[in-house]
Amino acid sequence: METMDAAERRWKRAMDIRQQYARAQVMSLIDQQMAQDMMVEVWVDASSLGSSDYYADLPGVPAMFRDVPSLYQPWRDGWNRSAGLDEMAECISCNDGTGNPCFIHDR
Ligand SMILES: [Zn+2]
Repeated sequence: METMDAAERRWKRAMDIRQQYARAQVMSLIDQQMAQDMMVEVWVDASSLGSSDYYADLPGVPAMFRDVPSLYQPWRDGWNRSAGLDEMAECISCNDGTGNPCFIHDR
């Protein structure tokens, strides 16, 4: 059964990622390699949140990401990536039957 709506779920995911980021920062004082691995995970998660926020029609950067470029940049990348894919899905030239993206969307 669904107990949380999209905005609440999104808030919780964003908060988890923000905490993950804080833990990675603390880890950087102890173990650089481990901290780097954690940051990669944070980057991937923030990007995937941006992507699902696009589909959930939540256009604004999560409030707890706004002060952290390492969070809002991957979030924006994920959002833009999904927007780009969505645009390709609508593009006649991308869907001409060849299976190849058109010159505009081929990047
Ligand atoms: Zn296209």
